[in-house]
Formats: sequence, structure tokens, C-alpha cells
Amino acid sequence: MANSNKVSFPTPCRVVVKVGTRLLTHSTGKLNLGYMEKLARELSDLRNQGHEVILVSSGSIGAGRGRLNIMHKEVTIPEKQAIAAVGQGLLVQIYEKLFSEYGLIVGQILLTRTDLVSRKRYINACNTVLTLLKLGVVPIINENDSVSVEELKFGDNDRLSALVAGLSDAHLLVLLTDIDGLYTSNPRKDPEARLIPVVEKIDDKIKAGADKSHDDLATGGMVTKLQAAEIATNSGVGMYITGGSDPGVISRLIKGEHEGTYFRPQVHFLNRRKRWIAYGQVIKGWVTVDQGACNALCSSNKSLLPVGVVSVEGNFEAGDLVAVKDLNGEEIGRGLCNFSSQELARIMQRTSPEIADIIERPFAEEVIHKDNLVIY
Ligand code: GLU
Repeated sequence: MANSNKVSFPTPCRVVVKVGTRLLTHSTGKLNLGYMEKLARELSDLRNQGHEVILVSSGSIGAGRGRLNIMHKEVTIPEKQAIAAVGQGLLVQIYEKLFSEYGLIVGQILLTRTDLVSRKRYINACNTVLTLLKLGVVPIINENDSVSVEELKFGDNDRLSALVAGLSDAHLLVLLTDIDGLYTSNPRKDPEARLIPVVEKIDDKIKAGADKSHDDLATGGMVTKLQAAEIATNSGVGMYITGGSDPGVISRLIKGEHEGTYFRPQVHFLNRRKRWIAYGQVIKGWVTVDQGACNALCSSNKSLLPVGVVSVEGNFEAGDLVAVKDLNGEEIGRGLCNFSSQELARIMQRTSPEIADIIERPFAEEVIHKDNLVIY
């Protein structure tokens, strides 16, 4: 490996490890206890060395299907949620048993997408994770599949683990998977595919190589892994995608050995509040801005003013998250809007004195203040 690929992490290192269903279950659908044992041993050993470990574990649906003996049958959403309720209990019961053999305590956190939408709940989740770490506990996190509403889900643990890495200020996120990294194209289909050792920036070429993979039990593929990499690196967290059949790889990565694909964190990454705006929130609408406003937002770190808005889509309230698009329809950023969609439709393209005659309440001058705006 070339020297420029060298990666190093602080000691102790705060590491989030995400493990997918394919590694955690056999092809029969039953839990792979041998693998879970190796993983618990590896994470316990890291903890004994003083590192801080957070585990984001999939497998509730896989384990639940195995336990209930409904392996490959199509199931309804309520059935899937019931399956997850059975599987999640089983999963954590086994982790608790395995980690306690090495003298460690685990704590389960189940998150839903809506838990991160409110700033208060986002901070609350963050405090719980950090307190568990302080107590020497290994947090084990999964999506709360039993109660999550289908339209409003993380849907995959790749992005969930990146959000967790961001909210816990981790140094490293490791996605353990059954493929040994990111390739120039899908290596299962293309013999010419080459492994990419380090990604400095997730550009269109990198995205084009990612191929959506499907599986009976697992969710996500390279596409969601790249989305996770975007969240992690913009949150200042380095991320590895690596083959996880030997969990010993985590120690090697922390020591600076290189296996798989490393996504380098951005130098100018988002602060915690902007991470929450960019990734915790759910978009409620869209505003399109003219070229002048686009330049001011992208190059001069300015707030968005009503005069620069040319159209409004969606139905949102003041304080909601909206995406900002340029005239080509490309999303250039997102932020918390000071006006409702109805108000904005009436004041767009107008100057401040004109707005005072339209809005009959105290109002901010900006549509989105620069402190509440994230530009990509
Ligand atoms: N939360 C799902 C489960 O526990 C997994 C989602 C994923 O595989 O990314 O089954």
C-alpha cells in the first residue's frame, strides 16, 4: 500500500462497529453463534485495551424468522414487526451472555428515525450513548423495527451506524460486511473490478461503482454504505468498509493496518448541530433559488433571503427542514426554514420592506439563517 494511504487513529479509539445480517446468520436463517462469539471476544478485547466500542447490530428480523421458523415466506409489515420483536430479544440475550463471559456489560438502545428528528431527543440519545461508554458498558444499537413506521425508517443499519458515529463523536466507523471493500464495479459480476483502498471524496465516479445488492435477510448494499460514508466523513468520522468474517480485523484497523476501503473524514466537517440538521431531520419541502442566491450560499456562506427564492414545494411549517435546490433541480443544501410554505410562497422574490406588509407577525429577515443551513 502506498504511504499516502496510511491511516492512523488515536488511542484510546472510540469505534462504532456495524455488523450485518449476512455475517450474523447462517444460510438456514438461524443465528451464527460461532461468529457472534468471535465478535464479542474481539470487542471485549478492544474494550480491555481501553478503546470505547459501540456495536450496531442487525439480525433481529433474521433471528426472529429463524426462531419462528418462517424463513423465506413473504410476510406483511405487521408480521415483520412481530418477527423483529421476537428476534431482537433473542439477539440481545445472546450478546449479553457472550459479553458477560468476558466480564463486560451490554446496554441495548433501539432507535427510530423520529427519535433523531427532535433536537431534544437527538441530544438525549447522544447523552445515553456517552453515559453508557463512561460506565464501561458496550452499547448495542439497532433500529426499533417493531414500532418503526415503514415510510419513516432508517431502513438499513449502514446509515443508522453513521448517524450513531456522528452523534457519539467517534473516531472510526467500521462496516463489517461479506464483501472486502468498495470496488470500481460489482466484483460478483465483473472480473475487471478493482478494490479502491482509500476514498478521499465521494464523487460521482465512486457512486457509479456502487451497485445495489439484494438479499433475503439483509438490507442495503453498496449504495447505503456510500450514503453512510457521506454522513460519517461529513461528521468528521473515518469509515472502513471491510470483510468482516474475521472480527479480528477491527483491532488491525485501529493499529493502522489497512484492509478494505477507507473513507477519509472531511477536514471541514459539520459541527454537531449541523450534523443533526443535515442527517437527523426529515425533509418536509423544497425551495428553489436563483443563480445569485445559489452563488451567495455556496461561495460566500450567506443566509438565504426571500428575494432569492423562485419556487416552493411541499407543505411545511416554520422551523421545518427544507432542501434547497438550484435552477437545475440539484439539491445544494438543506436548512431550517423560518417561514411556512404558505408564507414563503407569498414573500418569495420580495425585499424585506415589502414582506412587512405581507407577514403579520414578527419575522426573521432570512428564509434560512446561515447557522441553520448546511451546504454540500
Ligand atoms: N434492523 C434490521 C434487523 O435488525 C436490519 C437492517 C439492516 O440489515 O441494515 O434485522
